[in-house]
Amino acid sequence: MQERDLRQRFTRRLAMGVFSVAAIGAALLGVLHRTEAHPHPLSLLMPWVLFGLASGALLATWLLRTRTRLVVYLFIIAMIGLLALSAIVFLPLANSPDGPRLTEVFPPALPGLISMNLIAIAFLPPRLALRLGALSWLVVGLPVMIHLLLHPAELATARGQEMMLLIGPTMAPILGLIPYQQEVARRLTDLRRNELLARTLADRDPLTDLYNRRAFENLLIDRLAEARSGMQLILFDIDHFKRINDSHGHGVGGQVLVAVAARAASALSRGDHLARWGGEEFAVLARIPLDQPLALAERIRATIADSPFDSVGKVSASFGVTAVHASDTPQAAFERADQALYRAKESGRDRVVLA
Ligand code: GH3
Ligand code: MG
Ligand code: MG
Repeated sequence: MQERDLRQRFTRRLAMGVFSVAAIGAALLGVLHRTEAHPHPLSLLMPWVLFGLASGALLATWLLRTRTRLVVYLFIIAMIGLLALSAIVFLPLANSPDGPRLTEVFPPALPGLISMNLIAIAFLPPRLALRLGALSWLVVGLPVMIHLLLHPAELATARGQEMMLLIGPTMAPILGLIPYQQEVARRLTDLRRNELLARTLADRDPLTDLYNRRAFENLLIDRLAEARSGMQLILFDIDHFKRINDSHGHGVGGQVLVAVAARAASALSRGDHLARWGGEEFAVLARIPLDQPLALAERIRATIADSPFDSVGKVSASFGVTAVHASDTPQAAFERADQALYRAKESGRDRVVLA
């Protein structure tokens, strides 16, 4: 499985866990409110709205397999809306003549502000998390804080102090986490890029950019393990390559290797693999053509030998072909293909021999 898919799956599962906990928490809150003497209708409604939002987000995450971040984003926007609504309803109520104290009627929504910001930090890009954090604090935290500062009697109560603590000293370090998370995310990206580069360097031949021997051997081991239908292994070796080097120099020799690789690649179908096996030797792993077992090798041979190369003219190669089955070992398959290639050389070069 691709690393990207793995990350997506992890994020999706984590989000589903978070939404489940949020839904359960909201339902508990809804039930607990019923035990209050005279709750405000919005206080009664809010936990169930949150329950609906969290359950909806859970369902959406499950259905939309690749859009977890979008669901989280929409969930947070809805939560900010819900928190803002409680500020819009309860702050004027608390400031009205003979109105109740904010500390008595404000629903226990401020821990939601904290959780929402932690969810944003965990799932969203840091910049977006910072914006949502600032927005949520401006629409809920700041107005509640101003109200408490203007009403010292409310601030003196245990609930008032707790509300202040949540908006101020608890919220500040959480928002301070964002730059830290940004740095961690940047380092992870660097690490992933370097890992990809290291893997490319380890698996590719720098001259032709084909798979190298190591990568091709691993590929063959993997394919053998999952082989359901037969495959074929083709080894081919450029004929009298030493003469090309001797007559035209190593630079031109290198250009011929690149051109041979390109011609061979052009003869392959999707799902076939070509590697630079050694100096002027190449290997192909492909499905066995239905028409005849030698068709692909013959096609590669013709595309190399039938038209001249720049600077050097005609170049040919000799081919050994063998069928590979699930019961094979890579060593045995390579040995058979190599023997066939040897016979192709012995019997005059520029030809295909089946093991
Ligand atoms: P045969 O038809 O029997 O295969 O003859 P040959 O000359 O192709 O075979 P031989 O094994 O004698 O020579 C292979 C040559 O390929 C020798 C080596 O210098 C050259 N060679 C291997 N790798 C490279 C490379 O990366 N660049 C260049 N220019 N030459 C290379
Ligand atoms: Mg050779
Ligand atoms: Mg050769």
